[in-house]
Amino acid sequence: MTSNFIINNREYSSNIENTSVVICLDGSQKEYLDEASKVGLTPNLDKIIKKGEYLMAHSAIPSFTNPNNISIVTGQPSSIHGICGNFFYTPSTGKEVMMNDPQYLRAPTIFEKYYEAGAKIALVTAKDKLRTLLGNGLKYNEDRALCFSAEKSNQATMEHNGIDNVNEWLGMSVPEVYSAELSEFVMAAGVKLMKEYKPDIMYLSTTDYIQHKYEPGHDVANKFYSMFDKYIGQLDEMGAMLVITADHGMKSKSQEDGSPNAIFLQDHLDDVFLKGNTKVILPITDPYVVHHGALGSFATIYVENKNDVEAVIKEIKTIKEIEVVLNKKEGCKTYNLPEDRTGDIICMSSEFMTIGSSRDKHDLSGLNEPLRSHGGLHEREVPFIVNKKMSQIDSTKQLYNYDAFYYAIMGAGVN
Ligand SMILES: [Zn+2]
Repeated sequence: MTSNFIINNREYSSNIENTSVVICLDGSQKEYLDEASKVGLTPNLDKIIKKGEYLMAHSAIPSFTNPNNISIVTGQPSSIHGICGNFFYTPSTGKEVMMNDPQYLRAPTIFEKYYEAGAKIALVTAKDKLRTLLGNGLKYNEDRALCFSAEKSNQATMEHNGIDNVNEWLGMSVPEVYSAELSEFVMAAGVKLMKEYKPDIMYLSTTDYIQHKYEPGHDVANKFYSMFDKYIGQLDEMGAMLVITADHGMKSKSQEDGSPNAIFLQDHLDDVFLKGNTKVILPITDPYVVHHGALGSFATIYVENKNDVEAVIKEIKTIKEIEVVLNKKEGCKTYNLPEDRTGDIICMSSEFMTIGSSRDKHDLSGLNEPLRSHGGLHEREVPFIVNKKMSQIDSTKQLYNYDAFYYAIMGAGVN
């Protein structure tokens, strides 16, 4: 690799001396790290912060998992890469289309470009839903790329993942999809890959099951960050250039009695306007809703009769706990969203509130703990930790979690 690359309008260094690793610690509101540190459970992270940087960055909006993971791996928000939720809605057909297929991805990943230039790439994700998007454009027949999920680690093949017999190799069986072990699997695999596979670029993406259930400082949360700290220490020890960030934060969204704090916006709009004139879309909805019941802090609304858009906006503005209400144009411009996959209106709820569609559409039976969720502006502040000093980070400019690879690669090139 001789010259620098332009990837999605940003220039990346072609000079990678050691492995650059980005870890996306799903749902890691800053307080999780700080509380675990306070009780002495994260000695390695403490050391890293001391010698490096502990900054705060913004996530992409909506502050959901898929849009942010894809932002991190493309280095741009969803106005560029197109993935703005778990699915998008097509008013003309009434269809809701899952966006976990690469055909919906509008930008190459950073991995794809480096792979083409000869780099060695390793990608491990907790949930399988991200895997095909992350691995898009990689070839698995040259022994230079691998991409697999903890969730379907037993189904990985040389042909589709660049690796097989993952469980035997790692000495860990397939974890439960709703478990702390699903994330531990990712970290353990990352350490072993760093030792044996020695990639140029590695991405490790965990899952936020623990953060949806437990608040910062809770014993279970602390134990989770202590586990994470052990692996991070090993990666640091082996000389990896590390950037640790999160896809979004996580806030309590429940009432004192433990019931979820939610505005059922579809019900509300159906009471005020003709039924069928509005359609509330919650892009957090996906097959894994047990831990949040599809309740998040972001919604987009399609309005059948476009003459009513202003009236619907006006009505939503009367709802006290909805903080942001914008029409498509303003919303997409302000939050870098793709207009063709966004409704006529976007809205976001206040810090401790979520937005639902119709009450009867939400299965909350799996919510055994008070609701914790994300999606809005109050969960977009995320940690951005680097294991070396990076004077190149311009403190006068807004830092984003999707700057992670930019700085990880830059840091890996200057030794
Ligand atoms: Zn997430």
